[in-house]
Amino acid sequence: MSSVPAPSPESERTVLALLEIVRFEALKRTVGYAAATGLLLVLAERVAQLPNCRSARGDRHYVEVTLACPQGADLHRELETMARTLGGPIDIDGYEFGLSVRMGAAEAHEDEDMASLFGRAERSLARANEQRKNIAIARPEDESAFASRLVLMRGLQHAIQDDQLELHYQPKIFARSGKTAALEALVRWNHPTEGMIPPDRFIGLAEETGDINKLTEWVIRRAIADQSRLLKLGHKLPIDVNISGVMIADPDFAWDTLMLFTAVQGEIGFEITETAMIADPVRALENLRTIADAGIKLAIDDYGSGFSSLAYLQQLPVSELKIDKIFISRLASGQRDPLLVRSTIELAHALEMKVTAEGVDSPEALALLQVMGCDLLQGFHLSRPLPFDRLVTYLETEGLRAEERLTNPIRDLRARLVRAG
Ligand code: C2E
Ligand code: CA
Ligand code: CA
Repeated sequence: MSSVPAPSPESERTVLALLEIVRFEALKRTVGYAAATGLLLVLAERVAQLPNCRSARGDRHYVEVTLACPQGADLHRELETMARTLGGPIDIDGYEFGLSVRMGAAEAHEDEDMASLFGRAERSLARANEQRKNIAIARPEDESAFASRLVLMRGLQHAIQDDQLELHYQPKIFARSGKTAALEALVRWNHPTEGMIPPDRFIGLAEETGDINKLTEWVIRRAIADQSRLLKLGHKLPIDVNISGVMIADPDFAWDTLMLFTAVQGEIGFEITETAMIADPVRALENLRTIADAGIKLAIDDYGSGFSSLAYLQQLPVSELKIDKIFISRLASGQRDPLLVRSTIELAHALEMKVTAEGVDSPEALALLQVMGCDLLQGFHLSRPLPFDRLVTYLETEGLRAEERLTNPIRDLRARLVRAG
C-alpha cells in the first residue's frame, strides 16, 4: 500500500475526511437507491470546489475527501465550515430533503499508508455515529483503545479454549415467598494480565468476530455442569443463559443440535433481547420456535429499552418478561415510571407471561414491586452475581436472609403509607 502523498510538509498537513449523509438509509427508502447514491456524487462535486480540497470521490456509502489543511489551522472549524456549506434543503425529484452531513476525519502521520489512514478516519466516523455528533476527528487515545480491542479480540478464542472464562450467578427471587426461583448465568473473562473483564467489554467483540457461537456453547455447557453440581448439593434450580441477538437470527447456527443437548442435559432457559427480533424477524421467529419446541423457556430481556410492543412480543413463544433495570432503579424516585412498570406487569399477566424486575437495588423498589404483583425480583439489593462457591454459601445462608428481607418491606411500606396519611 502506498504512502499518502505529503503536501509541502512545513505549511500544510493532509487530512482524510469521510463524509456521510445523516439518515441516508431513510433517504434511500424514500427516493430510491439511484437518486440517493446520485446525491453522494453531487456532494463530491460540491466538495471538490472548496479551496482546500485536493480530491473528492463519492461511492455507495460516503464521500471520501482529501484536504490540505494549513498548519496551525483549527481542523474542527474547517470541517464545520465544510458541513455548513454542504448542508441545507435539497430537492430530489420534487422531494425536499433536509440534508445534513456527518464526518469522520484523520490527519495523516508521516509515512502512514492509505489503509491505516482510512482505518482511522472510518473509526472516527463510527464514533461520530455512536455519539450522534456531526464531526469526529481521530485522537491518539482512539488508537490505544483500538489496539486494546485488537488484543482482546485475538485473545478471546484462547480464552474460550483455555477456560479463562468464568460464570457468575445472580439469583432471581420469588417476590411472594423470597425463595430463590432461578439463577442467571453471567460470563466474566479472567484475563491473565488484564484481570477480571466484564462482559460488556467482550460480548460485542465476540459478536463481531463470530466467536459468540463458541462462547455461548461454552456458557451453556458450564451452566449445565454447575447445575448438576448444585443438584448434588441439594439445590435444584433452573439456570437462565443470555443469548446474543445476532445468534437468534443466525441461519448457520446449529440450533437443533444445541437444543437437543441442552434439553436433555439440564433445565436451562434463554434470555434474549427484543432487539434480536429486528434484524431478521422471520428467521428469528423460526429459531425461537425450534428452541421453545425443545422445551426451553424463553424470556425477553431488557424489556422497555427497545421499541417493540407487548402485542408484538405476544406472538413469540415467550413465557417471561424482564423489565429493564433503567425503569426499576428509577422506580422509587420517578414520577412516570411506577405507572409504566405497573401497567407493564398487568399487561404481561394478561398475556400469561411471568414478570421479572431486574436492577432491584433498594428496599423501596423491592416493596413497590411486591405491591404491584411482580413475580420475580433480581438485583444488587437481593444479591450481586456470585462465583460458584459464594453462590453455594448464599443458597445455604443468605438465601434465608433474603426471605426475611422480602417479607419485611411490605410491612415497612404500609407503615410509611400510614405515617404519610
Ligand atoms: P443483562 O443480561 O441485562 O444482565 C444484568 C446486568 O446487570 C449484569 O451485569 C448484572 O451484574 C447487572 N445488575 C444486576 N443487578 C443489578 C442492580 O441491582 N443494579 C445495577 N446497576 N446492575 C445490576 P454484567 O454481569 O456486567 O452483564 C452485562 C451484560 O452482559 C448482561 O446484561 C448481558 O447482556 C451480557 N452478558 C453477560 N453474560 C453473557 C453471556 O453469557 N452471553 C451473552 N450473549 N451476553 C452476556
Ligand atoms: Ca439477562
Ligand atoms: Ca437485562
